[in-house]
Formats: sequence, C-alpha cells, structure tokens
Amino acid sequence: MGVDAPCLYELDGGSSSRDQFDQGSRTRPTSRTESDTQNDSLNSGATPGQNSRQTSVSTAPVSPAPLPPDFERLQRSFAEDDSGDPRVRASWQTRLQHFRNLYRTRPELFSEVAITTLRAIAQALQAGPGRVFSPDAPGSVLRELFGYNQFRPGQEQIIRAAIGGRDCVGIMPTGAGKSLTYQIPARLLGGTTLVLSPLISLMRDQVDSMDDIGLRATYLNSTLEPAERRSRIEGLRAGHWELVYAAPEGLEASVGYALEGVDIRLIAVDEAHCISHWGHDFRPSYRNLQGLKRRFKVPVLALTATATETVTRDIVTQLGMNAPLCVRGSFYRKNLHLSAIRKGGESASVRQSILQLALARKGQSGIIYCLSRKATESTAEYLREEGIAAMAYHAGMEPEERNKVQDRFRNDDIDVVVATVAFGMGIDKSNVRYVIHRDMPRSIEGYYQEIGRAGRDGMNSDCILFYSWADVASYDRMAEDGDKANVARMRAQVREMFELAEHTGCRQQELVSHFGETIAACGSACAICSGRDVLVESRHTASVVRKRKKDDRVHQRPTDGGDGGAPALPSDGMPSTHDEEGLFEALKQLRRRLAAQRKLPAYVVFNDATLNEMASRRPMTEDALMEISGVGPKKLSLYGGAFLDLLRR
Ligand SMILES: [Zn+2]
Repeated sequence: MGVDAPCLYELDGGSSSRDQFDQGSRTRPTSRTESDTQNDSLNSGATPGQNSRQTSVSTAPVSPAPLPPDFERLQRSFAEDDSGDPRVRASWQTRLQHFRNLYRTRPELFSEVAITTLRAIAQALQAGPGRVFSPDAPGSVLRELFGYNQFRPGQEQIIRAAIGGRDCVGIMPTGAGKSLTYQIPARLLGGTTLVLSPLISLMRDQVDSMDDIGLRATYLNSTLEPAERRSRIEGLRAGHWELVYAAPEGLEASVGYALEGVDIRLIAVDEAHCISHWGHDFRPSYRNLQGLKRRFKVPVLALTATATETVTRDIVTQLGMNAPLCVRGSFYRKNLHLSAIRKGGESASVRQSILQLALARKGQSGIIYCLSRKATESTAEYLREEGIAAMAYHAGMEPEERNKVQDRFRNDDIDVVVATVAFGMGIDKSNVRYVIHRDMPRSIEGYYQEIGRAGRDGMNSDCILFYSWADVASYDRMAEDGDKANVARMRAQVREMFELAEHTGCRQQELVSHFGETIAACGSACAICSGRDVLVESRHTASVVRKRKKDDRVHQRPTDGGDGGAPALPSDGMPSTHDEEGLFEALKQLRRRLAAQRKLPAYVVFNDATLNEMASRRPMTEDALMEISGVGPKKLSLYGGAFLDLLRR
C-alpha cells in the first residue's frame, strides 16, 4: 500500500569523509583491503598501553604452553561453522572477549597458535555483515525471536542500514515499533548494542520484555545498588549482554567508564530530538554523545518520533553522523479510529458520554485525558461509582501515589486512568484500546502523541476527542503570563488544533498533513470516512452490558479473579462471537496470573493481538501455537504449556 511506504531520502549532513569506521565492520569482505589484514584485530578493543604490552609479550620465547581452558571448544566451533549464523557468531564474540580479558592478566597461557587463531576469529567477526548476513537475516530474527512475520513500515530499511554499518536517522511515530530497529541488529551484530534513552523509568520494563523474548539485555542507571552495578559491568566486559540501556546523563559520569573494554557494535540513540536545541525536550547531556561515536567507531542509529527537518539536521550534526540514511516512517496509523465531538451540542453531558464509552469497553484498557487535575479526580470518581475500575493521575499527586496508579494500569489491575498530560511518558503499554480527550489538547503534536498511546499492538482502537471553543479560551488564559513570542506561538497551536477538530474531511488525512505527509482519504479509520457514531454505538453496547450483568447476578456465573468480561464492539477488532469472547477473557486472566507470578507487566507476556489470534484460531499443539503472531521459541517455552492447557479445555 502506497500510504504505508516510508519515504527514504538521503541527508547531506555530517562529514563526508569515511573516516573512523572504514576499518572494521564497514568494510565489505568482498572488497577487503590490505589495511584490514594489517589491523591487529585481536587487540582492537585494547588501549595503546595494552597494545604495546602484547607486542612485547608475543616476541618473548613461547613455551609449548597448555592452551587456555575452553580454548579448544572455540577453535573447533570456528573450524566447523563459518556459516554466519548470528548465534554462533555471538558465542564466538563472548568467548573471544573472555580470552582477551584473560590475556591481559595471564599472557603466558597463550601459545602463538592460540594467538593466531584468536586473531583470525576476531577478523572474521570484524569483517562481519557483508559476508555473513543473508538478505533474509533480519526477517529470520523477526520470525524466530519475536514470532512475527512482517516488518512494519520503515523497520527493515533501518535495520539494514545498521547491520550494514551505516549511520541512520529513523523518524518513527509512536507505536511504529522503534525498538525493534536496534534489537534485531543487536542480535545480528554480536557484541553489545548501546541504547541511550532518557526514560529511566522504562528501562526495567524494556529489559524484562527483552528477557522474555530471549535477548540478553541489561541497563545501567542511577537506580542500581553498587554491587548489582558492578556485576552488570563485569557481565558487559565479558560480552554477556547483547543490549545495554543507559541514560545520556549517566554517560557523563560513571557509565562512560563502565563501557571501557566493552565490545560496542552499535549505538542507538532513542528520543534523539532531545539532542537538538530546536526540539522541545532539549537535554544538554545529549551533546556529549558525539564523543561516543568517535570512541567506539561504530554506526549510530538515531531514533525519534517527532522531528522536523531542522531538528533532523541538528541531530545529524550533533551526533557527528556520516552521510546517514534517513528513514521516515508513516504518521498514518490506520488501526486508530478518530472521532471528534463538539461539547455542548449533545443532549447527554460529556461526563455521561464518557461513561457510556467506558462501559461499552469494560475490561479494556483506556486513558481519559482532562485539562485540569480537579477534572481527573471527579471523572475517575464518577466512573468508579458506575463500576469502572478507574483511577486519577496528575502531577499534583505524590510520586509514590503516581507510581502506584501507573503500576496498576500497567498490570491490568485497573482498566482506566483519568489523567492530565503528565501521564504517558513513562508508560509503554501495548493494549490501550481507547484514548478519550475530555478536553481539547493544546496542540496537534500533543494530540498525536496522546492518541499514539492507543493500539501499540496494532489492534483497532478508538480515539475520541471532545472539544469546544471554551477549551481554546482556557488555554489562552493559561498562556497569558508567558513572554510575547511564546504566547503568540501557543495561541496559534491551540487554534490549529481547534481547526483540526472542526475539520469536515478525512481526519487522518488532515492529521498527517500537519507532519508533512500526504495520504488518500483513510476510508475507514475516522468517523467522517467510516460513518461510525461511537456515542450511539456505545449507548447500545453499554445497555447490553448492564443487562447481561443483571442476568449474571441471577445465574451466579463463577468468575475468575473479578473483573468479569464484557462484549466488545465488533468494530474494535476484538473477538466477535460469544465463545471467542469468553476464551479471550480467559486467556487474559491467565496472562494476568502468569505476569503477576513473574512480576512483569501483563502485556510483556503476550499482547492483546496475540491473545485475540489464539482465541480465534485455537491452536492445540506447540507447532500450531508457534504459528500465532507474537509467539517465539522463548515465550513458547515460558508460557506455551499453560496456554495450551487452557486452549485444549
Ligand atoms: Zn478518514
């Protein structure tokens, strides 16, 4: 589909010379030069001091020394398998690093033969990508590790750039699957991929979900106890971790030191717009990242969800990127259905409408954004009184309280968070089925970011905007105190947003045009094109839910854990028959139990799309289960038995 095709273009920023990393991973083995062979690859990670020490040692008389322990195993593997299997290469890399470390303390263990062999392995690993990656390599990791069959738009181009040793800027809207673009290279490249992210609160979840897939990931940040930190650093130096997450602030201090001696193969910079003083989230510490690229001589992958041309150029310059490939993903998210409802025009109040919408989606995760803290609290309370598991979230709450709400939402213990814009940065929950704006957001960027929290698993989700001119007036009042230029800018942004809300053509088309993208009318992903009236639908579904609840009370149907099921709207892409619904709910309950046992967020186990597919296809064997999108071998071994038991019932 044309609308899905990412636009690829080259940026001319950065230096044009192919300086630092012409050696090593950038050099295609088919055109290997003499400089490659002159390269002392075994020693490539060592400092000059260690370098000279090795030289002096290797000229010393060599006894017919016993080989270092475990050396033969590596030697055999290298002799037997040069197929380029990424797992084999990763294990070579781990063992090579081990022997490098050993060599520094006990050089007498290494015969000349051993050193020659290790150099050959290091060279084979460095010669890397061009030789070993078959065209299908990224796709096969996607299938085998993640259990998915297809890349989302833009992902594959970015991955190919990264494993090809090329710098790349990936502009991927929220929910487009940014993290996969460095996770797959991390597996293919071997060594360690360094991921810099400002979102410390997300690191644990990211690492947990990597672990559940079977990628070896860890993080270094200020929350770690010293002993834990030391052990992670040791693991990094021994080549145990494929991915390490760190905050750019940490790099200034001890993380920079911690990376000493680590075999970094790729640096991924998440939320890269923070590097640009043109961006709205500028962070000075991001400015030090340029030194990192020089230090490790590896490709840099800069990822961001929001970047104008100016910001993109700034990212390229600030990171010292070398003729990067720029991949722009599409801003069109066709699984989000957009509606806008002007407040005051309906007979029902906004509050009642929101209740109907939430009742019709009972048991599903939703976020309701309000302008004021007071409104979040009163709305949450109103919903609770009507039987919706809802909690408020705003910046005026104690951090501890806020974390509690966030955790309960993440773990599916509550269905709805009623929040101010303060909510969202630290949450990465894939099964949010709806986002409601009780009040109009202050800008189109804000609106896009907030609705972007729905449907990250790719399943259909509803985004419902309530708006009025009174909202515009509220923002104007709030902006009054700022400096002149700021006030003017904010007033303009609010009015742009109001115009979008009032727009009478395709909403998706109008929304992405704000980001410079042109698409045809969506046809089905906005209320204008689809003709869906979400309020009318919800009123109907909500009354069915209420009726069924009454019937349930009469029949005393046993429930499992409390938050009983509800029929979903057919247009939500949720299970469509009653049987399927029941099974889907049972699968969700099982997911919650397993997640609680392992202290993970529920969506880390499997996302809604995966459970939905299980409910409709009902796999009965391990093989059939592996066919389901989102089920990889690691997850099969962790959860397959429990899910099959349930499915076979
Ligand atoms: Zn449309």
